[in-house]
Amino acid sequence: LVALSGVNKHFGALHVLQDIDLTIARGEVVVVIGPSGSGKSTLCRTINRLETIDAGSITIDGKPLPQEGKELARLRADVGMVFQSFNLFAHKTVLENVMLGQLKVRKTDKKAAEDKARKLLDRVGVGTQADKYPAQLSGGQQQRVAIARALAMDPKVMLFDEPTSALDPEMINEVLEVMQQLARDGMTMVVVTHEMGFARSAANRVVFMADGRIVEEAEPEQFFNNPRSDRAKDFLSKIL
Ligand code: ATP
Ligand code: MG
Repeated sequence: LVALSGVNKHFGALHVLQDIDLTIARGEVVVVIGPSGSGKSTLCRTINRLETIDAGSITIDGKPLPQEGKELARLRADVGMVFQSFNLFAHKTVLENVMLGQLKVRKTDKKAAEDKARKLLDRVGVGTQADKYPAQLSGGQQQRVAIARALAMDPKVMLFDEPTSALDPEMINEVLEVMQQLARDGMTMVVVTHEMGFARSAANRVVFMADGRIVEEAEPEQFFNNPRSDRAKDFLSKIL
């Protein structure tokens, strides 16, 4: 579904992505882990073209990423992204947040957009919050709204960049549970996270990055019990 081949990216002198080859099959859940600054966020952001690349190719469904205009807006809808900071529109209600993209990008009619928004808000457990503003919600609730908003676009793939890192501990699980359910429902997902429990239980594959490279790729069981590279061993010894 998603294929990166020979992807390279620099920020000035910093070679932030180095020869990245990665394919993600439909329905697959790939968890990306690695030290701070290793390029995990940048990798995610290249997939929906929030970052351009210097070399290599990225395709979705075999098609190269569009460069601009309406096509780019559609790409961002096809590739849902959930960030550490929830990025909801502060001056729109929860319901409006989940309707907006449907109206603007998907050209859904208002009634259908509202029905779908309410269904999704129920699904992520915040149906009763529909008429509130984001600031009136807890972090965990806001993040679940952000997930519903991305899902409203019927994305082909969902990218999560440390979706629980900004949350108080008691709210982490409610977000992870929504993500677990999504994974079970067959959503294709790329998840950058430090939640190793989630990685173990939800991931089909763990991708370990260091210094802009994919150092190791393995099934979670194999990766956590028997990491091959010294970098991964070192990383795991610090976080587990
Ligand atoms: P973290 O775990 O801290 O989120 P990360 O693996 O997500 O780290 P990235 O955010 O992808 O790492 O950043 C990789 C490197 O690129 C870092 O050294 C960072 O400082 C640098 N970087 C990221 N964005 C930019 C930018 N817009 N301009 C210049 N340098 C950047
Ligand atoms: Mg990051």
